[in-house]
Amino acid sequence: MLGLMQEHPLVISSLIDFVEREHPEQEIVTRTGERSEDRHRITYAELADRARRLAAALHRLDIGLGDRVATLAWNTHRHLEIFYGVSGVGAVCHTINPRLFAEQVAFMINEAEDKLLLVDLDLLPVVEAVAPALNHLPPIVVLAPQDQLPASLPVASANLLSYETLLAESAPSFAWPALDERTAAVLCYTSGTTGKPKGVLYSHRAILLHTYAACMKDALGFGAADTVMPVVPMFHVMAWGIPYAAAAVGCKLVLPGRYLDAPSLCDLIIEEGVNFAAGVSTIWLNLVHHLEATGTRLPSMERILCGGSPVARTTVQEFAEHADVKVVHAWGMTELSPIAGVNSPKRGTARYPSPAYFELQKKQGRALFGIDIKTVDEAGRMLPRDGTTSGFIKTRGHWVIEEYFRHAGEGTVDADRWFDTGDVGTIDEHGYLLITDRTKDMIKSGGEWISSIELENLAVSHPAIAEAAVIAVKHPRWVERPLLLCVKQPSAEASREDILAFYDGKVAKWWIPDDVLFVDSLPYTATGKLFKSELRKQYADYEITGR
Ligand code: AMP
Repeated sequence: MLGLMQEHPLVISSLIDFVEREHPEQEIVTRTGERSEDRHRITYAELADRARRLAAALHRLDIGLGDRVATLAWNTHRHLEIFYGVSGVGAVCHTINPRLFAEQVAFMINEAEDKLLLVDLDLLPVVEAVAPALNHLPPIVVLAPQDQLPASLPVASANLLSYETLLAESAPSFAWPALDERTAAVLCYTSGTTGKPKGVLYSHRAILLHTYAACMKDALGFGAADTVMPVVPMFHVMAWGIPYAAAAVGCKLVLPGRYLDAPSLCDLIIEEGVNFAAGVSTIWLNLVHHLEATGTRLPSMERILCGGSPVARTTVQEFAEHADVKVVHAWGMTELSPIAGVNSPKRGTARYPSPAYFELQKKQGRALFGIDIKTVDEAGRMLPRDGTTSGFIKTRGHWVIEEYFRHAGEGTVDADRWFDTGDVGTIDEHGYLLITDRTKDMIKSGGEWISSIELENLAVSHPAIAEAAVIAVKHPRWVERPLLLCVKQPSAEASREDILAFYDGKVAKWWIPDDVLFVDSLPYTATGKLFKSELRKQYADYEITGR
């Protein structure tokens, strides 16, 4: 017997309709210019109006069901309108990371066969750089008023359109078409640091289910009374779903544009009363150093969600001590829409602020309802949840990839639809996941694994160390040994021996790196992760002879 309840398609237009009806007056603030006070304000009612105008304009430009529309844009109200307008008409919003290499951007535009490019004014040089490598240069809509458009763009002068003119010429009466909830809504490529990027094609349904889960208390857990700032870019897995979750709850949104330096973020947080923010570890590391150096406090801020790469225990502790801000660790990936786990407490686990809480936050978190997570050994056998047995992390669920865009039939998931994340770690008896490495970054010394993440975490807990990376280098006897590369805190002093001695008693003797090199900076990928494959290349011939 079937249930007798209504069924409505889970589609993105329902979010913008909802927020327009229930929270029309709520604000979206965007940092727009060099001066801290350069801010644009818009309400959800106005945003919805503009999203419908954009939809009407897309129709005029012959963009319809399944067409890909690329964006090269920062976190702004216009990008938010585009998220709703493009997906709302059944087209696919293809968000591109402008920090990637030109060849990668060109590859993505070519593979996606984008029919239109929506580009922030200051990112037009990216289009210029990639244009020669494009199979076809689509028309370009510049996200600015007509009078700000450049007189000419060497590669594309004929095709420049003004976004504001397009909207002004459209009526706001556009009615969202009825869509199948399985329709593709957004396309986002993985960063492809070790090969060609691959496209992940999200459906309306997956995004809506992810949105429901993200709004749970143990996930993002914000509501209509909150002021939320996604620092994570909208081109990095849809800013972790915050644009959709914000509409689902009707919170105030604060969008930092391209101004992600610590002083700019501080101004926005303090002046707009931000109490929840999300972003990658490096952003928060810079911010907490800025707070310490300037004695600034963040009175409104309550929680910071930190993910994308491991957050160090010291960062969690420093935020608590200097600003009374609770840092919450989360884990996800492009293929998982992206949130899979968040480190929220259970009854009986450590509470903020306490040393045990800081320690627990080294773990990436517990699975959200809607996602299954397990660890397996090399033969694919499920491993115990004991917090010590390390294995390959697999996931499946409502917002997990089935296959990559244009890679049909390549076996992205196994027969039971488990997706191999490429991460390695443990799950403890409470379900908390600890990532110890990426499969590609693992160090196997004398047949045993060493966790580079654990060694990095310890290194940055040394007062003289600001950043650390541990990579495998060749060793004649043990095959691989760990090499620690670190950046010192400004004006701090420490020797190789100090750092090595610091590991004593904290990890097994054979885990201690064989060498320490002090460097001026470490390389990061376009999504803010340590660029370890690059480091391995740089130190491919590094010789460790001792031990
Ligand atoms: P991306 O698809 O660019 O978001 O990258 C996903 C990968 O980033 C994951 O598979 C992990 O290797 C890594 N990652 C994401 N969040 C964390 C975290 N909290 N701790 C450690 N690694 C993380």
